[in-house]
Amino acid sequence: MSITFVPTPAVPAIDASVDHAIQAIVTGASTDATCSTDLAAGPWDFDIRPGYGPGSSMGDVIPTGAPRQGELPSAYREADEEELHERIRAAKAALGDRVVILGHFYQREEVVRHADYVGDSFQLATAAKGRPDAEAIVFCGVHFMAETADLLSGPEQAVILPNLAAGCSMADMADIDQVEECWEQLSEVLGDLDAVDEEGRVPVIPVTYMNSSAAIKGFVGRHGGIVCTSSNAQTVLEWAFARGRRVLFFPDQHLGRNTAKAMGVPLEQMPMWNPRRALGGSSAEELVESRVILWHGFCSVHRRFTVGQIDQARAEHPGVRVIVHPECPMEVVDAADEAGSTDYIRRAIDNATEPTTFAIGTEINLVRRLAAQYPQHEIFCLDPVVCPCSTMYRIHPGYLAWTLEELVAGRTPNRITVSADVADPARVALERMLAAKPPVVDAPQTPVAASAR
Ligand code: SF4
Repeated sequence: MSITFVPTPAVPAIDASVDHAIQAIVTGASTDATCSTDLAAGPWDFDIRPGYGPGSSMGDVIPTGAPRQGELPSAYREADEEELHERIRAAKAALGDRVVILGHFYQREEVVRHADYVGDSFQLATAAKGRPDAEAIVFCGVHFMAETADLLSGPEQAVILPNLAAGCSMADMADIDQVEECWEQLSEVLGDLDAVDEEGRVPVIPVTYMNSSAAIKGFVGRHGGIVCTSSNAQTVLEWAFARGRRVLFFPDQHLGRNTAKAMGVPLEQMPMWNPRRALGGSSAEELVESRVILWHGFCSVHRRFTVGQIDQARAEHPGVRVIVHPECPMEVVDAADEAGSTDYIRRAIDNATEPTTFAIGTEINLVRRLAAQYPQHEIFCLDPVVCPCSTMYRIHPGYLAWTLEELVAGRTPNRITVSADVADPARVALERMLAAKPPVVDAPQTPVAASAR
């Protein structure tokens, strides 16, 4: 698999910063709305709150035993944006090729401007693999992404998450203990889960979205399953249906439902598995008749999009092209003109030869960046409220400055490591995906604001 690093076009001088937009709303300089006033505060204001923890949405309970982010030193908390920018730039220059900084598409602009590569989680993990010279891989994303980078990088490379509280609420919805319990209950209903029928298929194949913990990827690898991304989910489900009579899909119910529905699986054969209820809340008969069992998980960002927003966009912008991410609810995907992965959305805009109005249903940092990159088009977020991925937003530039200066001082903070007993089967599940159909990996990009460094 070859990787081509494609530079993005230079960005015109417009401010795509969600951070600035939120500050303007809070000070009254803008009449826009934000989904949470908490977003205006520094993440360190929340680190000390009970109930604010790794991988959790604001207010969620911290998973037992989860590591906590120590309080960021005051020098970083009190520095202004320009000082942090200069400190990051100086520390990065001092480290040279010893460090590579990865910025997710959904990351805030103040951090992405320092990234060596920008992309989705798998693109970035693959990019990390292509830099074996780098001793430290600073992943400005969320926890499961850093774990995936650790799975794919060299054993001597340290993968670092600048703020340990940057988790993913969706990934946390599939807890390994709950998944093991689900498997146990399914075996009581479906019989021996390793038994192969006359067509060579087992009762159920577990499939996990990339947005899941390494523990879940390891579970899937141990049980004959596979990982998928939003760009290859259909191919992966075809792979699974060739080997199993049904699929257990987690953590994102919407990606599972939207993909299986497009393949012709009836909704009545897609029961939901709620881990808090016996048999997930379904009857034994429903599970026996099922084709896809959907885990009760969702992305709090993509769940916000509604059919009403699409109707409004069409009313206000005749001819608008509506593209949404498949993590959106089914009725939103059905109402949109198109649905596809982050990379699909970017390519659709890139391929539009005539000036076009796009209404996009995905995370707002990405949408604003696309609007800045493609000024020949009108591009706006379907959701009128400024609401970034609140967990990824915890990678404030202060944490990036602290991380890099720690590295300069010879210390390695916040290293994310996946133990061998989990990593080995997790890699098996990833390799099955790559053999079935690699996700798009040709476009981790140089950052949009490289010229502003
Ligand atoms: S956008 Fe949703 S799925 Fe992606 S990291 Fe944030 S919470 Fe997780």
